[in-house]
Amino acid sequence: MPQRHEPTPTLAPPFRVKQVRDTRSFVEDGDRWVPVPGSGDVRECDRCGRTHEIHAEVVDAAGRAAVVGVGCMNATVAEQRRLSGKATRDARKAARERARAAARAEFDAHTRAVAAMVFPHDQVRRQPADWGGKPAEEWRVQDAGPVIVSEWADHEERMAVLTSNWRQRRMEERVGGPDTLRALERRAGTYDGG
Ligand SMILES: [Zn+2]
Repeated sequence: MPQRHEPTPTLAPPFRVKQVRDTRSFVEDGDRWVPVPGSGDVRECDRCGRTHEIHAEVVDAAGRAAVVGVGCMNATVAEQRRLSGKATRDARKAARERARAAARAEFDAHTRAVAAMVFPHDQVRRQPADWGGKPAEEWRVQDAGPVIVSEWADHEERMAVLTSNWRQRRMEERVGGPDTLRALERRAGTYDGG
């Protein structure tokens, strides 16, 4: 329930606007972040009593602090639009950054867990393979690979690729599949498009 405030008809313009804050939550809708009506701190305007989620913190001519709706902050319509637009952009940016930080923390936790897993070297399978008519090997381990290993290949580098491939599979397994992992990487800002 919103907190009730007695309207303060004695508030004396002009007001000095200290801050305009959009208190609503934002949700991702496709590639946009949109405010959720009713999700903010619904408050009654100290001047007219109407409820609002975009709070204008003002000080009146007598030095009294009040919180009013944007329409009651005694500013031109252009200034109201400018300040409420900025408040919404700031709140949206903060919501986006919080979501990104949360996704990043989740991604990092999975990465650490997977990095701590022991690569099963004893399960690496090496099979002969044809590499453009030249003899080569295909290396696999569990569900990872194959990694093509030509006769000139740097075995250490090839094993690093197979290991990385295996850890990628483990990441996918932890989060519930490659699509979920890509979505998490996008949200975390770590997706490289690969
Ligand atoms: Zn008002």
